[in-house]
Parts: sequence; C-alpha cells; structure tokens
Amino acid sequence: MSYGSTDVLHGIDLDIRRGEIFALLGPNGAGKTTTVEILEGFRQRSAGEVRVLGTDPAHGDDAWRGRIGLVLQAWRDHRRWRVAELLTHFATYYPDPREPATLLDLVGLGAQADQVVDRLSGGQRRRLDVALAIVGRPELLFLDEPTTGFDPEARRDFHALVERLAREEGVTVLLTTHDLAEAERLADRIAMLVNGRIRACGTPAELARRAAAQAEVRWTASDGTARRERTEDPSQLVWELHRDAGGPVADLEVRRPTLEDAYLHMVHRDDPAGGGTPDVERPAA
Ligand code: ADP
Repeated sequence: MSYGSTDVLHGIDLDIRRGEIFALLGPNGAGKTTTVEILEGFRQRSAGEVRVLGTDPAHGDDAWRGRIGLVLQAWRDHRRWRVAELLTHFATYYPDPREPATLLDLVGLGAQADQVVDRLSGGQRRRLDVALAIVGRPELLFLDEPTTGFDPEARRDFHALVERLAREEGVTVLLTTHDLAEAERLADRIAMLVNGRIRACGTPAELARRAAAQAEVRWTASDGTARRERTEDPSQLVWELHRDAGGPVADLEVRRPTLEDAYLHMVHRDDPAGGGTPDVERPAA
C-alpha cells in the first residue's frame, strides 16, 4: 500500500484462519488501520492480492458485506434512538438477523433496551457497537481497538463476549489493539506490525519466547537482601534455593518473558535510536 509516493505497507503476507481470534498489534503509524481498511473493502490497495471470505474486498458486494461485522473506532450517529429500536432497525438489513432482545442480553445491555443511545456510558456504547456488528450473524468480525476507555470490569465482560462468539459460534475475529494484555488474553495468534512490515507472527507464548529465552527469578535471601537471577531453567534454580534455605524461599517470584518484552524488543529492533513511541497509551481517535 502506498499513499502517493510513500509506501506504508511492505509485502504483508498473512493468513487468518476461520474461527480464529487474530490480533494485529503495533505502534502508532505501523499500518494497522490501513491493513484493516483494505480487508474491509474501505480502502483500495496499491498492489497485491487479498481474499476475505473468498472474495477480493475491492469487489465485495452487499451479500459479502452482510457476512462481515465491523466495530469501528469512532461512531457518533443515531444518538437519539433508543437502544432496542436501533438494533431492531439494523436487524432489518440482514436476511437472518439475531433476535434483538436476546442479543441485548448477550452483550449485557438488557437493562438499557429503552434507553436513549446518547445516555449510555462509554462501555455500554461499545457493547451496543458490538451488538450492531453481530446482529446479522457475521462470519467475520473486525474489532478496531474495541476496549479503549473501558473500565476493568467492562473489559473483562467484553473479552468474555468475544471469546464466546469465536469459540461457540465459530466467528472469525480480527482485532487491532494497542493493549498488550488484551492481545495476550484474547488472541490465538498475533501479528506484530512495525513500519508496515510484519515483524513476528505467532501465538502469544511463541512471541514471548522469541523475545527472551530466559526467565527471571526473584527472591529475598536469608540476610534480607533482594536477589534476582536470569536462567533458562527456573525450576532448577528454585529447587536449589529451596534446598539451600532448608525450607520456603522468601518472596519467591518467577517471571517468564512476556508479550510486552517481545513487543518492545520488536519495536526497538526496528528503531535502534529508540525514538519510536510504543503505542500503548494512544487514546481513541
Ligand atoms: P496505525 O493504524 O498502525 O496507527 P495507519 O495505518 O493509520 O497506522 O498509518 C500507517 C501510515 O500511513 C502512517 O505513516 C500514516 O501517517 C500513513 N497514512 C495513513 N492514512 C493516510 C492517508 N490517508 N494519506 C497519507 N498517509 C496516510
């Protein structure tokens, strides 16, 4: 993909499987939105080959569009509608829609059915976005930074909903997020996109292992000093510590490399000067 003479995506090669929750993760400007917009059929690619549900998105028709659900970042229409009315209206666009009342319960908005959209909280609004996106029973759901602004409880509920859609109904989910914990919690596989290139793709555990093979063990020694050691075999070290202490080891902690380690490693490898700002706190657009 180029904008004018500037290439912003370079030879992205990616397969997303049916029923998979797949996360695109990367710093601001990496090309996540551009990628997703091409897949959604909203942006014409400059070159290359794309198939989404067997169709080139550049030529997707209404029937194809009806198999796809979108949760976009910003959504500011329909403020004066009541929640259930809006959903019932959207349901008429699809051949086999979900029943609106059941759907509101599914997304945890049963109590807000008669509320005006404008009066929903941010988290409730996002759940309504999801309800609108899945009312037509999509096979594929695009979620663009879906939980920005959620409190921890709303986030947990939302994650449970996405998992349920994928695991129980076989919906394929493509998620873009700057929330590493969210990607780690939800995604079967993650592609890390940096400067328009896929730097790594794999399960969260695979990516974490690629960043660092060693675990870090921390404990408090018998003289009260805090100690830490890196090791490939933390179980051996813990066994030795326990043996030497003749009993429990104080404040013992084993820290495996995390997805965050992998992410920062990839981003900084691409930018040796360290000038890049990992997009971990970007507010919603
Ligand atoms: P992300 O979603 O990962 O933050 P984007 O896909 O929005 O990244 O942007 C990728 C790159 O493309 C950035 O360098 C951005 O400035 C550039 N870009 C995005 N949209 C346009 C556009 N309409 N015209 C020109 N450049 C654009």
